[in-house]
Amino acid sequence: MAVDVLVAPGIRRIAVPLPLALKIVNVYLVEGANGWGLVDTGLHTSEGERVLRDGIADAGIDIADIQRVFVTHVHPDHMGMAGTLQSAGAELVMHSPEAQNARVLWGEDRSLLVDQAYGFFLEHGMPSKVDDDMKESWLAMARRVDAFGAITEVENGSLLDLGGRSLRVVWTPGHTDYHACLVDEDAGVLFAGDHVLPRITSNISLYPWSREDPLGDFLDALRAVRALDVTRVLPAHGDPFDDLGGRIDELLEHHRERLAKVVDIVDGRERAAYAICRDLFPVLRSAHEERFALAETLAHLRYLERRGTVREIPGEPILWRMR
Ligand SMILES: [Zn+2]
Ligand SMILES: [Zn+2]
Repeated sequence: MAVDVLVAPGIRRIAVPLPLALKIVNVYLVEGANGWGLVDTGLHTSEGERVLRDGIADAGIDIADIQRVFVTHVHPDHMGMAGTLQSAGAELVMHSPEAQNARVLWGEDRSLLVDQAYGFFLEHGMPSKVDDDMKESWLAMARRVDAFGAITEVENGSLLDLGGRSLRVVWTPGHTDYHACLVDEDAGVLFAGDHVLPRITSNISLYPWSREDPLGDFLDALRAVRALDVTRVLPAHGDPFDDLGGRIDELLEHHRERLAKVVDIVDGRERAAYAICRDLFPVLRSAHEERFALAETLAHLRYLERRGTVREIPGEPILWRMR
């Protein structure tokens, strides 16, 4: 598949392949007055590493010329090759609380978190067979993330220097708790990570360790980003696009519709989140998709619960009903 390489002045897109339904993650190579930086890194597969190295070489530089790498969020398709770039000499930078989560999620005690998540999913009615498959697919994904060293932490609202360009760090919670975008305010360019995507909607998940209301966070963060002066959007999946406001309006409408659908499904019958999830997402092709679908359903239920529309009934499994 041919993709445009030069996506904004001085910014190249490297389309790194993924062994997932989501076929590609975009890594952006940024040239500034004093050097080079990278936004996101790709999942570490041999094919992914080859494409990343070729993309960097196409710009006439070597991987060792990259001074800084900013990772928008902890997910393996974004963080995967951060350690490889770090070994080549780049400084790894993340939004401060997301960096702290990265150390936990990809650290030694990762399997404790996975167990905690699956305990939570079982309470919400997921069959244990699905649970075992999901756990395996999660741990398999973790093997595609490099070990990484020190992470330089930056705060929300601060300016990050990437090769001599000044980029604003903007906290955009929802997809992960402390996901951050970068904005080049002079050029009107948004490095959107997984916060605003052109063709698909970002997965919004509730996990036991999540902030209280990830969907509420996400919708607020979409409205906040809509107010930015941006004319070029560089998403982590899909092609770059220009109409940020139009896309955000579609996403807000999508979630309004999905929330209404959840209310329809729950109305009149008490059900576990897993049963609601199977109605909401009739076609799920893998354990990986099933996990995301259940966590997304839970995020919508939590949003409705916090606004007094539905409530949780303790039990085994936990059920949901209209308030
Ligand atoms: Zn993500
Ligand atoms: Zn992603």
